[in-house]
Amino acid sequence: MTILHNLPTQDLQALDAAHHMHPFTDGAELAAKGARVITRAKGVMLQDSEGVDILDGMAGLWCVNIGYGREELANAAHAQMQQLPYYNTFFQTSHPPVIALSQKLAELAPGDLNHVFYASGGSEANDTNLRLVRHYWATKGKPDKKVIIARKNGYHGSTVGAASLGGMSGMHAQGGLPIPDIVHIDQPYWWGEGGDMSPEEFGLARARQLEAMIHEVGPDNVAAFIAEPVQGAGGVIVAPDTYWPEIQRICDDYDILLIADEVITGFGRTGNWFGSQTYDIRPDIITTAKGLSSGYMPIGASILSDEVAQVIDHGGDFNHGYTYSGHPVACAVALENLRILQEEQIIEKAAADTIPYLTEKWAQLADHPLVGETVNKGLMAGLALTPDKAARAKFASDPGTVGFRCRERCFANGLIMRHVGDRMIIAPPLIISRDEIDTLFERAVQSLDETL
Ligand code: PLP
Repeated sequence: MTILHNLPTQDLQALDAAHHMHPFTDGAELAAKGARVITRAKGVMLQDSEGVDILDGMAGLWCVNIGYGREELANAAHAQMQQLPYYNTFFQTSHPPVIALSQKLAELAPGDLNHVFYASGGSEANDTNLRLVRHYWATKGKPDKKVIIARKNGYHGSTVGAASLGGMSGMHAQGGLPIPDIVHIDQPYWWGEGGDMSPEEFGLARARQLEAMIHEVGPDNVAAFIAEPVQGAGGVIVAPDTYWPEIQRICDDYDILLIADEVITGFGRTGNWFGSQTYDIRPDIITTAKGLSSGYMPIGASILSDEVAQVIDHGGDFNHGYTYSGHPVACAVALENLRILQEEQIIEKAAADTIPYLTEKWAQLADHPLVGETVNKGLMAGLALTPDKAARAKFASDPGTVGFRCRERCFANGLIMRHVGDRMIIAPPLIISRDEIDTLFERAVQSLDETL
């Protein structure tokens, strides 16, 4: 089925500008030039309404882990829609797809994370976590433990709750966030904020801000710490190696729940099934979405430890849930996605082959005159654009201007590479081949040259 297939690009753009409000977009600026209309995709390649190919270096929004165009997922959706397109799980009912997916997630998730609460995406799943951890402590007789500590420049979603957990100042400025009882510590961004410290010293210093904040708020008032194993939307910020072990120690010492927001890092992005495994941390709750269905259907999930689930299960009604919690079609598609990831060993193959290849090539970009830090963790990578590498300097102009120009050059050269301020980031589908990585780099280097 093709929708509006006979309209020329200009007409599509005009209709889009007239009626469609784009997320995280300056509407007037977009309307002046027109959106690029994407019409189809296969593997790692998108195609626009002019028939031009674009290599998707962002896997959509960090989600299309198995790549585009897998018919098995379409077939799973089709079959499930015919058999049972919808039913809820609120009032003591369940259905096979949600049961099977929950069992599969319990098998795949690390440690004793064996219990799944569903949402339609990552923001909703984090809203669930926000309420759930407070309910958990109240049920345990500690209702004062309700403050959640999060990080500046972290991203946990766009709902009021999730955006409050996030530490994006631009988002807080619109709509009067954060809501009460959420506080933020600094991010572990050594290249941008490390000053004279070594990465190891800086990692420890930033982790110990958590301890300082717990003392400031009072340990009896803190419910949880939430963080992404690798900050994604903040610009692919990879913490120094000393950071996560210290965070784990602090959460253990002060009896604070650890929520790993794995909406990006879950399902293979860092070279293991979960980023928590890459960093050897033991979260009490993992937030997932995106790669859970490779973006083919909207679905999110909070995966809870035995202990957390047991307390919640004995706390009476948990007055929370979404119409689409455990949607049967989304669950069937997610299951099929996980089957493909597992049977085709997509994560293991990436870890053995394309991740080392991309790691080596990405590091070489540091030779480019415009590039300072280059980092990656698996198939998520970031680099800092800088006017002076040695000084780790930022551009004096409007932050993001150079990054925006670079992104525009990439777009023109057939590559989706995103910018966050003056950091450029990629997170291609996990099935990207070496040849496709070569193409990605050719287009990236050409675009960097043209940004100079
Ligand atoms: N958490 C993280 C780490 C994310 O990167 C995102 C989205 O990018 C979210 C939560 C929000 O997920 P969603 O957009 O599905 O609501």
